[in-house]
Amino acid sequence: MEFGAHAFVWVGDWAPASARKAVAGAAAAGLDFLEIPLLRPEEFSAEETRRMLSDHGIGATFSLGLPAEAALPERPREAEDFLLRALDQVAATGSDRLTGVVYGSLGLLPGRPPTETDYETVAAVLRRVAAAAGDRGIRLGIEPVNRYETFLVNTTAQGLALLDRIGAANSFLHLDTYHMNIEEESFGQPIREAGDRLGYIHLSESHRGTPGSGTVDWDNTFRALAAIDYQGALVLESFVALHPDIARATCMWRDVVGNPATLVRDGLAFLHEKAAAAGLLR
Ligand code: MN
Repeated sequence: MEFGAHAFVWVGDWAPASARKAVAGAAAAGLDFLEIPLLRPEEFSAEETRRMLSDHGIGATFSLGLPAEAALPERPREAEDFLLRALDQVAATGSDRLTGVVYGSLGLLPGRPPTETDYETVAAVLRRVAAAAGDRGIRLGIEPVNRYETFLVNTTAQGLALLDRIGAANSFLHLDTYHMNIEEESFGQPIREAGDRLGYIHLSESHRGTPGSGTVDWDNTFRALAAIDYQGALVLESFVALHPDIARATCMWRDVVGNPATLVRDGLAFLHEKAAAAGLLR
């Protein structure tokens, strides 16, 4: 079982000093990997990041949302170019996973329901991107997020339907307890429904603060993960620092964490304890 954390637990950008802080923080917390937001692939230095990760002996996964100028379903050609550039950076850093809202642009809400054509457009792009990812030894994740952040994929069922449309063996579902708390009827059933197609989970509290301090049903979450014999990544996602684009899209304007040091210490201890109690960490 791999345990990781999103870089926003430490920093809101990937300038060299921020990157060092996040990598050092994740390593000091004993994590297996750091999830790096790849919002500007053209500004990202894979070589430097690869060296930092190797110096600290930890791995990395990558996540992103499409920028407005490369949004799906509106701009399929630009989106594909953007995702292919992102894959190059993921590969150059030596990582094997790119996930998140790869199917849309956070906060872009057209005020209408999604159509068949929207999903076909998205799937056609992601089918080619998944093939390119496969050539680079990378797996592609789809993260459903709540209705206030996207109109395309809000639930596990919609995420699985999109995976069916893409039809790529190297794609997987990425759930997030924060979004599940808003959109799903329960925490356990969607995880069971996803089964072995679930490859990644953001363990995020109902207000994005320290796990254990909100209303997420952690016992049911971990029981369901144990029931499906979950082998994927467990990822602490809380927002201490945010990239301005993500702050705007997620409306994170309040400090929901307090002391960042206690977030990492108490949050990870809490998640470990819950995972162990459910029999997930064998
Ligand atoms: Mn998430």
